[in-house]
Amino acid sequence: MSGSSDNPHDGSHGGPGTRLAGAGRRPEWTGTPGHPSAVVNPPVWRASTHLYPDMAALRAHPANEDGRFYYGRRGAPTQWALAEALTRLEPGAAEDGGGTVLYPSGVAAIAGALLTVLRPGDVLLMTDNAYEPSRVMGRGLLADFGVTTRWFDPTDTAAFEAAICERTRAVLLESPGSLTAEVQDVPALAAIAKARGIVTVLDNTWASPLGFAALEHGADIAVMSLTKHVSGHSDCMMGSATAGREWYRKLRLRAQGLGNVVSPDDAALMLRGLRTMHLRLTAETASALAIAEWLAARPEVARVLCPMLPGSPGHDLWKRDFTGGCGLFSFVLKGGTSQARDALIDALSLFGIGYSWGGFESLATPVDPATIRTASPWPLPGMADADRFGVRVSIGLEDTADLIADLERGLAAWSALL
Ligand SMILES: *Cc1c(COP(=O)(O)O)cnc(C)c1O
Repeated sequence: MSGSSDNPHDGSHGGPGTRLAGAGRRPEWTGTPGHPSAVVNPPVWRASTHLYPDMAALRAHPANEDGRFYYGRRGAPTQWALAEALTRLEPGAAEDGGGTVLYPSGVAAIAGALLTVLRPGDVLLMTDNAYEPSRVMGRGLLADFGVTTRWFDPTDTAAFEAAICERTRAVLLESPGSLTAEVQDVPALAAIAKARGIVTVLDNTWASPLGFAALEHGADIAVMSLTKHVSGHSDCMMGSATAGREWYRKLRLRAQGLGNVVSPDDAALMLRGLRTMHLRLTAETASALAIAEWLAARPEVARVLCPMLPGSPGHDLWKRDFTGGCGLFSFVLKGGTSQARDALIDALSLFGIGYSWGGFESLATPVDPATIRTASPWPLPGMADADRFGVRVSIGLEDTADLIADLERGLAAWSALL
């Protein structure tokens, strides 16, 4: 959804909290012609059929533009409001005449972006810390359509440059990596890509536009799983891709061609989550940092992988490029066994065991990068070979002291099995 509105309170001004409160609330989407802005939130427009006033209007075939009623697959004001709000949050998108395309999941957004950019015969370079379904896409879907995927060390800019060949068309970055939290030098990687005519797609789910201005740091397309921070309540799935004018138009046409559509009910849930996202991320970041500090001082812990923590890998780049964090980080245990790690996670009572993250409730899952990576070492340089068992935590909104007490019980269960 692109375009602008005359509403001064439209999410284009002020700090993050102010922008989140206003974005997407166009008077015509929250009211009627006689009573603009009649309600606070855009109502849920449940519609497959859109009606035309007469044959002349139908024959006039509204152009394929944002914000025009046409047919349900192109959405209605509830979805338009969410897309516009996300565009407002991404510095450089609206200013360039760009916009946001919504997808039924984050994975669908990654697929939608890559299928927009890539053609048979092309090579995709993918960061080695990428979310596993992105890796599976490279080996499966993209391979089936004649695209070759090659992986590179996320923190090795020279290795990225060396991996480029004549046929390289796109690069998929993810920073910080959602399992192992490496921060990538996105401006450097994107500049190298741009100079070679390569399109940079960034999975910006971890930071969201509040924590990292993807387009301003050189990405051409910023992808997010809205399932995580935007929903914030673990009850809804969606994805987005935001870009400037050129890529936005192409993304939109490809998404239409693939039949992507999101439900207005889900869009309304996402808009509800979005309003409190800054507040949640601020609280989760503070709590995660305190917990990361506590873990770093524990004898059972070999390494905390949390870029927000001074001394943790990627902290300098995070400080340079990011304006915020979130509650997701990992830690690696000293030595031990897989069984002891299972006991640690089982002993937690406040942390749910489950994939996903970014909800109000804390989660813990095992991390085994050695079984996934192909282009970069694990354990990381400087870590002992025996230090391989990781735990990823998504810190929610429970009280920090309670979460620390829970982790203390978990570490006791770990030690009891060694
Ligand atoms: C969860 C996740 C996705 C996929 O999102 P879904 O909405 O679950 O499809 C993509 N990238 C990252 C980094 C994720 O954590």
